[in-house]
Amino acid sequence: MGSGPAGFYTTQKLVSRKNINVDIYEKLPVPFGLVRYGVAPDHPEVKNVIKSFTTTASSDQVNFYGNVSIGDSLKLEDLVEAYHAVVLCYGSSLDKLLNIEGERSKNTVSARNFVGWYNGVPEDKDLEIDLNCDTVCIIGHGNVALDCARILSKPANLDKTDITNYAQKLIFNSGIKKIYLVGRRGPLQVSFTIKELRELINLNPSGTRLEPSTIFTDYQIGLRDLVSLTRQRRRLTELLLNTSINGDNPSKDFSGIECRIKFMSKPHEILSDENGRVKCLKIQKTKFNTREDFVNEGANPIDTGEFESIDCGLIIRSIGYKPLVVDKNLPINHRLGAIVNTNGRIQGHRSLYCSGWLATGATGVIAGTLNSSLLTARSILEDIDCKQLPGVDADRPGFKMISKILDKKSNQVVHFKDWLKIDDLEKQSGKALGKIREKFVEVDKMLEVASGKQSDH
Ligand code: FAD
Ligand code: NAP
Repeated sequence: MGSGPAGFYTTQKLVSRKNINVDIYEKLPVPFGLVRYGVAPDHPEVKNVIKSFTTTASSDQVNFYGNVSIGDSLKLEDLVEAYHAVVLCYGSSLDKLLNIEGERSKNTVSARNFVGWYNGVPEDKDLEIDLNCDTVCIIGHGNVALDCARILSKPANLDKTDITNYAQKLIFNSGIKKIYLVGRRGPLQVSFTIKELRELINLNPSGTRLEPSTIFTDYQIGLRDLVSLTRQRRRLTELLLNTSINGDNPSKDFSGIECRIKFMSKPHEILSDENGRVKCLKIQKTKFNTREDFVNEGANPIDTGEFESIDCGLIIRSIGYKPLVVDKNLPINHRLGAIVNTNGRIQGHRSLYCSGWLATGATGVIAGTLNSSLLTARSILEDIDCKQLPGVDADRPGFKMISKILDKKSNQVVHFKDWLKIDDLEKQSGKALGKIREKFVEVDKMLEVASGKQSDH
């Protein structure tokens, strides 16, 4: 259940055994999950994994059934009855909340919706967002926050990518002058990575600053204090430290979009104007008690009781994702945001497995999802070999049974060959606009194309 990287990587390993068939179900009419709908449009190389997923989907052992949703079109018990094993890999489709006053003010959006909007997720296409403001606050110091900041900073050739046309136009005409990336902890606790940070800095080398610029000297931290860190953390911190030094001398003729990476700032309240529209983010300053805490990746700062207000016209909350619970009997670890499992085996449910973000929580890159998927597939293969999976020697009805349920609900199913028609039309429309692709953003249009009716895209 789910056709993101986890769905495809789990399938790839399973069908390496010639006597195993896999049916992949997907809520949307189109496959590939966050590879299509999360990965930033200016990172097309990351989407190359789609080639290998397409090869997998074309195998005789694999079927793709799009526009079928677990929890909506199908119940978990239907799937368990129809198949020898069911793998849940439907990702993390909700976002975490700050739970602070004013969070629902107008022009306060989640990164999940904002990313979905520029990437063409059907349910996000009508996101109410106004980019006619001077200053944006992005809350969170993860890679999704950096993606949002970079896209708002108008990287070169964005109009040639697969970004939706409507988003590209609004972004290019935006009046944004300053972007704050607001983190509640310090530079040693950021969860973004060096390649992504460097990319943002390189967009505007003289416009990127740390706040406070004295963050390292306040704690008397210099290069020599970083030697005990892991190589990855040390290099990232060195880049931040160098940026803090350069930030003291910003270029006077700078006219681009300024980016301020703000530390030790815990969101406290969002204030809005008389129309209910965000006007300011109030933060509480935090601090570390010791230098040791400052350089400890796992340390949590304490509140100082001092507050600061950042005037802004847009707030993007980028503090992580969490999963939707599609069946009340599934054991959930709410802290991790994952189904309780051991190597992909779901606790208390024989023949039910999970992989990808649903198994690990919403953390890690596509390669990490590959590892989780291999673990899960190996567990399934072991359970087959050790006769732990009930009834593997007898046939199960599979899609024959599921199709009857879907027919009763008049649920149109999109096959992989139908997706290839959608794919083709999207590429054609993109070509006409001088870009990689122009996505369909309406499910109805996708279904029209899938059913063979030509759509005016
Ligand atoms: P998903 O990719 O989320 O796939 C889940 C699939 O399940 C989706 O297709 C979804 O539509 C489907 N689904 C949801 N609900 C249901 C349901 N009820 N029934 C049936 N199907 C359902 N990693 C990188 O390596 N490089 C990057 O540049 C990168 N950029 C990212 C940018 C963003 C904004 C985000 C959020 C993540 C990014 N990642 C990146 C991480 C990467 O996307 C994830 O590691 C990976 O997609 C997780 O795979 P998954 O299959 O578990 O989940
Ligand atoms: P993330 O890496 O977990 O970052 C979430 C950020 O939100 C952290 O800085 C966290 O701070 C902060 N946060 C959480 N709760 C908060 C709260 N209540 N108040 C204030 N701040 C809060 O999540 P993500 O950015 O959504 O990324 C998800 C995964 O996708 C990551 O593994 C990421 O690397 C991956 N991804 C990769 C790429 C890429 O490779 N280019 C691009 C995008 C995403 P604390 O640390 O203090 O909790």
